[in-house]
Amino acid sequence: MSKWQNPPKHAVGAKRRRQGEEVFSTNPTMTAPFPIDHDLHCHSVLSSCSSDPAMTPQAILDFARAHGYTCQCVTDHLWDAAVPGASKWYEPQDIDHVRASLPLPTDPQVRMVFGCETEFCGGGKLGLAPENYGLFDFIVVPPNHFHMKGFVRPESVNTEALAADLLVERLEQLLAFNLPWERVGIAHISGGLVFSEGDGPLVLRLVDEARIRAVMRAFAERGAGIEINLACFGPHWRDREDDRLRLYRLAREEGCRFYLASDAHHPTDLSVVPDRAPEVVGLLGLTADDLYRIPHAPRP
Ligand SMILES: [Zn+2]
Ligand SMILES: [Zn+2]
Repeated sequence: MSKWQNPPKHAVGAKRRRQGEEVFSTNPTMTAPFPIDHDLHCHSVLSSCSSDPAMTPQAILDFARAHGYTCQCVTDHLWDAAVPGASKWYEPQDIDHVRASLPLPTDPQVRMVFGCETEFCGGGKLGLAPENYGLFDFIVVPPNHFHMKGFVRPESVNTEALAADLLVERLEQLLAFNLPWERVGIAHISGGLVFSEGDGPLVLRLVDEARIRAVMRAFAERGAGIEINLACFGPHWRDREDDRLRLYRLAREEGCRFYLASDAHHPTDLSVVPDRAPEVVGLLGLTADDLYRIPHAPRP
């Protein structure tokens, strides 16, 4: 394994056991805290749902620097023109469009990373062609933009139970792709868009445990990051705390690593990471061992 990779968690555990340090992993006071020092998913003015002239890469960087971040990724919505079947909304947001933010501003403290949030419609329909994976240092894949009915969600999926089934099925289908998994983030698995006309947290509760565990184990083994999307943790979210955290808890038990995301579309939205992450991270009991980092390696 080269130096830049996230070490597999089981290897970390094995190393500890070899060194006779079992006490280290059972004593949280000796484990470094999960750092609130990054935001790996946000949108610039280039995303249609932002279109906010104030949301420039420089403004995003300025916020990151002011909050002590070490890494900030810009992930505009993307549908690669090489993949047929874009929706009208996605069509203008192709690779040339999102690359207009390059070169990203640089900073000695904050590593600015060029990424994208593509789309997954199920089956073999991913909004980024394999020959273009290498154009991005980080690829955020949303499995549950189910508000896009007739494009991402079939009209026939019209109950919480069916949405739960579709969510885990989409995650299973994603595993068939030969993505550069160590540079992939699985977006907002606890997001409200999963069933906006009904009971979103119920969808999360109804996801089959054995299937989601198997999927998460595979993401962990491949080195993908699981996104903690702080935009999903609005006021009163703790009324449904167990439902909202369920998939994250199962993912953690299966060895996944996590990263923080604002999913901001406007400068004021960026603050959800410093404002909300400490509480969510604390409730999940995450430590530095659970942290996903975008590899530094040059793209293949
Ligand atoms: Zn999204
Ligand atoms: Zn987004």
